Amino acid sequence: MKTFFLIVFAVLLVWQTAVWATRDPGAADENASETAAEAEEAAFQLTDAEWRARLSPEAYRILREHGTERAYSGKYWDQKKDGIYQCGGCQVDLFSSADKFDSGTGWPSFTRPLSDEVVGTQTDRSFFMVRTEVHCARCKGHLGHVFKDGPEPTGLRYCLNSAALAFRADGEGPLRNP
Ligand SMILES: [Zn+2]
Repeated sequence: MKTFFLIVFAVLLVWQTAVWATRDPGAADENASETAAEAEEAAFQLTDAEWRARLSPEAYRILREHGTERAYSGKYWDQKKDGIYQCGGCQVDLFSSADKFDSGTGWPSFTRPLSDEVVGTQTDRSFFMVRTEVHCARCKGHLGHVFKDGPEPTGLRYCLNSAALAFRADGEGPLRNP
């Protein structure tokens, strides 16, 4: 009888060790952040009426209808202040003035976002062109396009619409919804 219990104990011990050995230490955290990201994203799945109420007509046209503002017409193309450019739809931080450059196009241009996770891209075949569309990863609002003719260090040019962005100067608190 004693031998039987010893065998059972040994089997359980080996099994438990195997379970722990195959366990990915980061798995639990990843799942947690995934859930948080999903929850955050879900919070910005607004109805069309809610977006219309939240945004100016110009911001709605660009963010929700993939519009483009006229070159040199936006408020940020020539701005040189230090700060963070946020999504005009959901106010998440997207781009830094440190990565902004004068592209000569009349649209605010950046070499990179704050991180690869804050923006998403998809192929845009409108207007008989193949371009890469850029949107906010959280609320899916359309921001502009990214081209491969940018300066160092990335060689990329994120060509964005001012009306799709909000700006928080260094030292200022978070922006309130427009
Ligand atoms: Zn957004």
